[in-house]
Amino acid sequence: MKPAKIISTSDRVTRKCKPKGMIIPRMDHTLSRKYIPASALNVLNRLHDSGFAAYLVGGCVRDLLLGLKPKDFDVATDAHPEQVRRLFRNSRIIGRRFKLVHVIFGREVIEVSTFRVPDAHTQGHSEHGLVVRDNTYGTLDEIDKDAIRRDFTVNALYYNIADGSIYDFVGGLIDLKKRLLRVIGDPEVRFREDPVRLIRAVRLAGKVGLHLDPLIIDAIPTMQGLLAHISPARLFDEMLKVIVSGKAAQVFQLLLKYHLLDFLMPEVHKALNKDPKHYSVALITKALENTDQRLKEHKTINPAFMLAVWYWPVLLVNQQNIATEAPLTSQTFEQAALKTLSTAIQHLHIPKRLTATMRDIWHLQHRFSTRPNKSWLELVAHPKFRAGYDFLLIRAEVNPDDQAIATWWTHFYNSDLDARVDLLANTELSAPITADKTKKRRKRRKKKFFSETPS
Ligand code: ATP
Ligand code: MG
Repeated sequence: MKPAKIISTSDRVTRKCKPKGMIIPRMDHTLSRKYIPASALNVLNRLHDSGFAAYLVGGCVRDLLLGLKPKDFDVATDAHPEQVRRLFRNSRIIGRRFKLVHVIFGREVIEVSTFRVPDAHTQGHSEHGLVVRDNTYGTLDEIDKDAIRRDFTVNALYYNIADGSIYDFVGGLIDLKKRLLRVIGDPEVRFREDPVRLIRAVRLAGKVGLHLDPLIIDAIPTMQGLLAHISPARLFDEMLKVIVSGKAAQVFQLLLKYHLLDFLMPEVHKALNKDPKHYSVALITKALENTDQRLKEHKTINPAFMLAVWYWPVLLVNQQNIATEAPLTSQTFEQAALKTLSTAIQHLHIPKRLTATMRDIWHLQHRFSTRPNKSWLELVAHPKFRAGYDFLLIRAEVNPDDQAIATWWTHFYNSDLDARVDLLANTELSAPITADKTKKRRKRRKKKFFSETPS
């Protein structure tokens, strides 16, 4: 391995870039080193000590200036990926479209990108105008060009480790003060280049609490169709970012408001429209609020749970369609679940380990509402029981039809083994799932439970 270019601290050059942007000296802004984690400082300092320019850039600068905790830290430098790779043993080069270096510190990853400049010769475009390759590196003097290829003004602020100043070439600081999310350049051109920016706009607006520039709002209806050309893998990544944004319920409202769900998850959108009582929107909102709360409390979340909630309305529609031709059984339920997943993965590339959990959670909903039987004693030990039960509780919170079944299961779950056995024995005679006491009525209600749509 070729040794990295190391220069001693005393030889450090605090190089200034030539392009004229606004330079805000350390004393005139609030971004303090003490809020930058040791991992990011390590990367910045080593690059700087080795004679390279090193800046924090993007969402982390935006969030730190707003007093928020950044999700991740990105570094921009004039060092080429191979040079960065040589400086850090704990790093690897990733990406084809954009070559980047990931420097890995345990569970933390610092993403290091080399300044890019637009170059008509190397920048590749697909037939729909999407940028598919962008690997021309820039020097420190071209940092302003690196700034303007970024998506939003508030995402193009650079924190210089050399002197603690912030560089702003696109008016990002003023927009940040105004809490305004504004595209760099012409929104139509920039959204055409990369339609995922539409989802990023809505996600960042919801997450950080920024309002969308009217020019973005105007561009959405004409640009949203371009999302159809984005790979299911990339769309899945974006949806995952929505789920873990910490403000997912808010982002969901914006996705609905600006009709972006129609393109991200067309089946979910259709199913929501078929639900006159709006239970499905309430279900998704409630589950997202719970997810946001869990993240706030630093608890773990399982994206499969949220995806199971998201596609539940679709499953109910599929189940209804199948039920018109065949009686409702475990098989028809499974059939509806499989159909739901096969259409879902056409748009979002949901990994198999997540679809397996989604199926488990759905299957449990079905088991919860069948006739009581002894196998329920083992059901509580099912590895996904807790997730399935939590799902049921949210259903009950938004749909009164599901309340009796949830109450029964809460009682069962909280009982000891003897009490569970008793409960099962008695339940066979009375009606567990519905509040009704007669067998006849129970049957009717049970049937209704399956054939009625929303949850
Ligand atoms: P988050 O808080 O979700 O991490 P972020 O703005 O940091 O938000 P990242 O995906 O981490 O988003 O990207 C880091 C930076 O890279 C962005 O702030 C932006 O400058 C640039 N960037 C990311 N995606 C795009 C894109 N599709 N087009 C242009 N620039 C982008
Ligand atoms: Mg980020």
